[in-house]
Amino acid sequence: MELPIRLKVHPRASRIVLRVDPQDAAVDLVVPRGVRLAEAVEFARSKGDWIRRRIEALPPRVPFADGSTIPVLGFERRIRHRGPRCRDARGVVWLEPGELHVVGEEAHLPRRVADWLKLHARDDFTRRARQFAAETGRPLRRVTVRDTRSRWGSCAVDGSLSFSWRLVHAPRFVIDYVVAHEVAHLSEMNHGHRFWAVVDRLVPDIDRPRAWLRDNGGSLLRYG
Ligand SMILES: [Zn+2]
Repeated sequence: MELPIRLKVHPRASRIVLRVDPQDAAVDLVVPRGVRLAEAVEFARSKGDWIRRRIEALPPRVPFADGSTIPVLGFERRIRHRGPRCRDARGVVWLEPGELHVVGEEAHLPRRVADWLKLHARDDFTRRARQFAAETGRPLRRVTVRDTRSRWGSCAVDGSLSFSWRLVHAPRFVIDYVVAHEVAHLSEMNHGHRFWAVVDRLVPDIDRPRAWLRDNGGSLLRYG
């Protein structure tokens, strides 16, 4: 099996690290500066079985396409393409029971679904963050969504929060945990016990969403 390998030289890496990117099933090889290319390639070659097992274990990709079912804010929605001359359109993209309808040219459907999801992610996460911030009594500036792969949320010193819009595919208790986590950083910019006490006050049973993200977080990148 031939596999594309993305080689990344990382000045702060202390050893060669191999990982499979769940979004595109490509192999990332992170190499400390000074390691010879041949040595890095040999390392990847020696891990062939491990790579194959990781790729086979990845959940299947679900494209944004007519007939695909995707989770949206805790509900399964089947994507339905409606033709350009659809008469009962309620916008470009809209919800029907159990479905997500998209009008227009089929070629534009993936982008339209992604744009709609980002908008809904931002609205939903903002509303949640405002509720949690009101409970802690800390001022919240603004909430943005991005396409980050390495972290689900972040908190800036100026009081703005940022989230990966792909959390929109996660169950509600997971979204709430990630939002509560970042809101708690408005009170405590660390992961000390006072920080966790704030998270605990905002959401119950934080072990469950943390375990879910550890086990299933990669699957959120498989949509679209
Ligand atoms: Zn944190």
